[in-house]
Amino acid sequence: MHILLVRFSSMGDVVLQTATINWLRSLLGHTLTISFVTSQEFVSLLENHPEVNHVIGFNRRGETWKDLKHKIHSLHREKPIDLIFDLHATLRSFRLRCSFWTIPALTVDKRRWERFFLTKIKSVTLRRWMNNQFFGLGPQVERIIKDFESIFGDSRGRCRTEELRNGPHQELTSLAELPLYQLPRPYIVIAPSASYFYKRWPVQSFVELTQKLLEATTFHYVILAGPDDSFCDAFKVIESDRLHYLQGKTTLKESMSILEQSILCVGNDSGMNHIAEAYGVPCVTLFGPTDPLFGFAPHGASSVTISKELWCKPCSTTGKKACFRDRHYCMENITVDEVKDEVLKVAVIA
Ligand code: SF4
Repeated sequence: MHILLVRFSSMGDVVLQTATINWLRSLLGHTLTISFVTSQEFVSLLENHPEVNHVIGFNRRGETWKDLKHKIHSLHREKPIDLIFDLHATLRSFRLRCSFWTIPALTVDKRRWERFFLTKIKSVTLRRWMNNQFFGLGPQVERIIKDFESIFGDSRGRCRTEELRNGPHQELTSLAELPLYQLPRPYIVIAPSASYFYKRWPVQSFVELTQKLLEATTFHYVILAGPDDSFCDAFKVIESDRLHYLQGKTTLKESMSILEQSILCVGNDSGMNHIAEAYGVPCVTLFGPTDPLFGFAPHGASSVTISKELWCKPCSTTGKKACFRDRHYCMENITVDEVKDEVLKVAVIA
């Protein structure tokens, strides 16, 4: 059997889909061929993944839709695709399914309406109750498995996700083994960026946190962020040979290697934290305008989520919407000391 999985973006979501890959592999065995279509910038996430046979990258800036179709056609000619598993459920992935309409397809239900409805309920207790009673939004990595277990003939249901948690990957998500990126160890990664501005804890708070952690511990600290995250220059006020400032200096593969070897990752609800978790590294994850209930909270046993409850929160399902209040309370109300305390607790366990 040959399954083509489709998830173009974003980084964290592509990482979370490795749970589906591991599940399909454990269920359908080694005769299954798994191919994955994603955006070119995320190909590194899945390259050399032990369970993925082919990764097809799509560069939206340099390639046309015809180019992508050509790549999939070539793959289909080499080994006929039996099923398209659309894990993105957007217009783009719909277009791809239509282009290959002769191949059977399955599409995930992203629970958009349920999540939208829950953003309208500002009472935490009522929101939790509504979710438990009517929606049952659990961790996204487990939701897909539960939704499709009957279709793939997996009668063990919840046991299956437990097995995956305790299986060879030790985690429900996992990525490929990587070459070492050498840094003095042990170190903690600080990842101050996120896909949307309102999902970011203020950079000054991250700077203050790093200063306090440098004083309180003997660990090294690594600042990881992308080439466009120049706001991280704020860290340059810290003078310490235990601070490794790598904003914009690493490739995605190198960042993955750094995360894999870290003892802990502190950051926003972002791709970096999802990558760390995929390698079994505990995370301290800060949630702003979104609710961890939506299914994207860290799932590792030692990971911690910090999220403040406010009358205006959650104000969107993804954190993309601009804040309508005079201040960014959901993030600003998270204090440096409480994050520091959580980091120290998790670092001791790790
Ligand atoms: S403070 Fe309230 S309105 Fe503003 S981003 Fe946070 S949750 Fe949304």
